Amino acid sequence: MLTDGFNRPHNYLRISLTDHCNFRCTYCMPNENMDFMPAAHLMQQDEIDRIAGVFVQLGVNKIRLTGGEPLVRKDAAAIMEKLAKYNTKLTLTTNGVRVHEFLQVFKKTGITSINVSLDTLNSQKFTQITRRNEFDRVWNNIELLLDNGFKVKVNMVVMKGVNEFEIPDFVALTRNLPLHVRFIEFMPFTGNRWLGNRVFTYAQMLELIGGHYPFTPLEGNPNDTAKKFKIPGHSGTFAIISTVTEPFCATCNRMRLTADGKMKNCLFSAGETDILTALRAGADIVPLIQQCLSLKEADRGGQFTASFEQLDATAMKNRSMITIGG
Ligand code: SAM
Ligand code: SF4
Repeated sequence: MLTDGFNRPHNYLRISLTDHCNFRCTYCMPNENMDFMPAAHLMQQDEIDRIAGVFVQLGVNKIRLTGGEPLVRKDAAAIMEKLAKYNTKLTLTTNGVRVHEFLQVFKKTGITSINVSLDTLNSQKFTQITRRNEFDRVWNNIELLLDNGFKVKVNMVVMKGVNEFEIPDFVALTRNLPLHVRFIEFMPFTGNRWLGNRVFTYAQMLELIGGHYPFTPLEGNPNDTAKKFKIPGHSGTFAIISTVTEPFCATCNRMRLTADGKMKNCLFSAGETDILTALRAGADIVPLIQQCLSLKEADRGGQFTASFEQLDATAMKNRSMITIGG
């Protein structure tokens, strides 16, 4: 088992398949003219497979595919098929637009739970946030997943003044639909124009929801990032991912691989370890993985050095979210 310097066991790998995306979410990527990674720098199918295989040998039992948008990668299906042989829990995070094209692949590769991002229930606002007019497609695909028996978690990034007032509407969805909606505090990444005063906090979310519904906390699992709640009589649940105001680093079990094959020991790590170049050179990547993990900071890459209200996001050393793989 992989363990970091704080004795935290790490068994969960998030692999970014691409930094490309068919959306342009304002909170995720710097601008329309982003420099995408040259194809030669991306991990190829067999390289993803080999690197994942090494992580599995080291104890990884859960793999999430992400990006960018994982389903825009031409060989996304082939990659899922390759990774299915490891018998880990295999899952993905997607913007939902191409889900209908992959339903059979998900079934064939044992994917049973999918996270779909959706920040608003208003189609005009959806177009403003994502800069793409695809609300109906995403919503239809969420329903398609539910109809096909998938567990669906809906990720909403909450930004003050943009969409926080829709939180009760998202909670209302859980009344009749077995959806798990997750409200994510807006996080700072390179180029995403984050400001502390745009964060709608965990405490504010609970207060807002409490004004509309009675709710009770649900027992979580040890490595959960989301604090889960249930409203009596609702089929689904809601949860809050409070990375900014109440981080959950003490029980973190996550490692990340960017689409260009760099390992990040934390979403906010300043440093990264070049696994792909080593693999291509025929080197043993196990010591590199272990060393990268040993450098993991106790809390959010050691970069949240001030309270969030005082935090200067431009001084943080990191990538944009779209190039990390959220
Ligand atoms: N394209 C896929 C999607 O949108 O689900 C996967 C990649 S996206 C980077 C992964 C998750 O990160 C999404 O749920 C997205 O909403 C979230 N995310 C991106 N930027 C964020 C930010 N600044 N703060 C909080 N969450 C963010
Ligand atoms: Fe694309 Fe997902 Fe980022 Fe939106 S959040 S730009 S869908 S990678």
